[in-house]
Amino acid sequence: MDRIKHQSTKIIATVGPACSSYEVLLELAKAGVDLFRLNFSHGTHQDHEETVNRITYINEKYNFHIGILADLQGPKLRVGEIENNALEIKKGQILTFTNEKCVGTLEKIYMSYEQFAKDVNVGETVLIDDGKLMLEVVETDKKSIVKLKVLFGGTLSSRKGVNLPSTKISLPSLTEKDKKDLDFILTLPKVNWIALSFVRSPKDMKDLEKIVRASGHEAKLMAKIEKPEAIEKLDKIIKASNAIMVARGDLGIEVPIEKLPILQKLIIKKCIQRARPVVVATHMLDSMIKQPIPTRAEITDVANAVLDGADAVMLSGETSVGMHPVKVVEAMNNIIEEAEMHYILRDRPTPSKKSRTFLSDAICFNSAKVAEDVKATAILGMTSSGYTAFKVSSFRPKCNIFIFSDEVNMLSTLNLVWGVQCFYYDKFTTTDETIEDVTNILVQNGNLKKGDIVVNTGSMPLGKRHRTNMLKVSVVE
Ligand code: PEP
Repeated sequence: MDRIKHQSTKIIATVGPACSSYEVLLELAKAGVDLFRLNFSHGTHQDHEETVNRITYINEKYNFHIGILADLQGPKLRVGEIENNALEIKKGQILTFTNEKCVGTLEKIYMSYEQFAKDVNVGETVLIDDGKLMLEVVETDKKSIVKLKVLFGGTLSSRKGVNLPSTKISLPSLTEKDKKDLDFILTLPKVNWIALSFVRSPKDMKDLEKIVRASGHEAKLMAKIEKPEAIEKLDKIIKASNAIMVARGDLGIEVPIEKLPILQKLIIKKCIQRARPVVVATHMLDSMIKQPIPTRAEITDVANAVLDGADAVMLSGETSVGMHPVKVVEAMNNIIEEAEMHYILRDRPTPSKKSRTFLSDAICFNSAKVAEDVKATAILGMTSSGYTAFKVSSFRPKCNIFIFSDEVNMLSTLNLVWGVQCFYYDKFTTTDETIEDVTNILVQNGNLKKGDIVVNTGSMPLGKRHRTNMLKVSVVE
């Protein structure tokens, strides 16, 4: 069973009630989804486990390598329940927020954040419901009560998210809910990526890494960039993570929204320089939640993410609760295909002599350069850690990247990475034999044909499993 796509830019689809059935997941997989995202802000553990089982079954039955990303909610702040689920608030009104549970009225509104009164200061802004409602702190008793003046009013409903763009929040990056979710995720070996929301420092990622590695789970870790503090420490957070998400939903509330396009470009550029896959998320084809076709602006947004060099573009509500999940993926696929014809990496990174992986980095860098010089059809590489795939991809070669691994989970992990197509291979006898074998597999699959020029990277001697240290150019016979 073939999948439609072989584009370089990958598609992530968020799973939710609109697509979690086996039939729709399969349709999405065939339409071009490369990774499914389980959003732990919604759904039960049982829901997520069933989704993982369905994706695993699809991968096994159709020989796909669709990856799974588990996304932890992080310290998302929310108001509590609101009387009749709707409270009209008007400009100039003074509202009282408390950390004691109550049903919200114009008298008192519960805020799910114990330290709210302690952390905020007079004059700071409070945004509710993706910034639709704007309030300003006018008084705090630094214990439990905060008084807020409404700057932009509207309807406040139950459990709406709250953002405090100018407040230093003292909540830990892993909340009690995240810890429970993480314990559960770590029982699911098929999860390839774990994303942490509202990352504020590299330590947040290192703390998560300690827990994940101690459990023996092999998932790689993604930092969601959605706080001003994360922008300030971007380089260190990128270094401490395996991948990055430009989480434009919350980032667009936490920083002035007009800064988003340039921040997106900056984050992508830095990630490519460090060989970290980077995902552009949120509102990409939002109107398709209801409509069967996207707007001109949305098409341009997806195309621009491709032209910026993103490894992956992500769908949220469009697939999780939307009316046309399959159409959305098809539309995204078409936009990617068109935009990729015009993509070139302007500042190709050069290997750093200071890096401890300099020698292997130089081989990967030159595989991309040689491939261009000799007009190769593909670069072929082997990996067990994923290193060669991440590195070769970061040079954005203008040819296929075929990666072989004997680690089944790694094949799905690498499905996030720009341009990488993965294949299972576990023989690894001699270098000559392996090159011949993997070339034959690609010919049989229709990925290569007689006369194609290919650039092989590998590690010699084979049995030692060193990092990539060999480069060879050959012609398919
Ligand atoms: C975002 O804020 O853009 C995002 C992807 O996070 P979430 O969907 O978890 O709010």
